Amino acid sequence: MKKDTLRKFKKLFEAQRNAIQGNNSIICDDFQICPEDRYDEADQARADIEQALRMQLKNRETAHMKKVEDALRRIEEGNFGLCEECDEDIELKRLEARPTATLCVACKEDQERREILTASKATQNYRSPDRRRSLS
Ligand SMILES: [Zn+2]
Repeated sequence: MKKDTLRKFKKLFEAQRNAIQGNNSIICDDFQICPEDRYDEADQARADIEQALRMQLKNRETAHMKKVEDALRRIEEGNFGLCEECDEDIELKRLEARPTATLCVACKEDQERREILTASKATQNYRSPDRRRSLS
């Protein structure tokens, strides 16, 4: 990968990291719910839902942060843009669309095919007791 391109990605990841760090501090500041806000059950329930949503958001941010940090580390190590499976260059178009991608298109498609297979097996296992119950 060209140095210019690499620098562009590095800047992008650093900007994303800063944005996530900024968001996280907002989420954390907002996390303490004022005691007077929870004076009845409805408020309590709403506060619980809000907290769950914030946790979900925070988990997503944490996962994204990890990907961004991984990508920055790969830039430092000099293997950014290489497929983790086959060591080939990941298509630049793919990286532009999804900068944290670690697999080339072919390997990603392979992985997705495997995931669909696993997911459909899991669904079959999950469904079978239900079907038995509805028959009885
Ligand atoms: Zn590959």
